[in-house]
Amino acid sequence: MKIIEKKCPNCGGNLDFKVGERDVKCESCRRKFAVEYDTNISDLSEKAMDALKAADVSLRPVRRMFIAIFCVFFLIAAVGITILIIAMVDSRNKFNERVKESQQEFEKTTQQMLESVGK
Ligand SMILES: [Zn+2]
Repeated sequence: MKIIEKKCPNCGGNLDFKVGERDVKCESCRRKFAVEYDTNISDLSEKAMDALKAADVSLRPVRRMFIAIFCVFFLIAAVGITILIIAMVDSRNKFNERVKESQQEFEKTTQQMLESVGK
């Protein structure tokens, strides 16, 4: 089986792999890459596969799923905390309003009592 020699798109280190391999890991920077062939290699004979050049093959960085998952979790947590803060501020405002209302009520009642005593 022919060995394809490529440079790591990330660190420039040597990446050697057999024709037909679908993924490869760089030994220098530990990044994984999906191997993409210009032609459908399942249709090729072993001889035709051995004729493949490095130019017929490209390396696509494998998406780091855990980073995506972490971002989603972080986003959910951020939204949750924001909602919590809004709810807390809202309930505090309502509490302050009620305190103010009872103060006004108290003043009103006191005023009425004083008026009724004065009469
Ligand atoms: Zn590398």
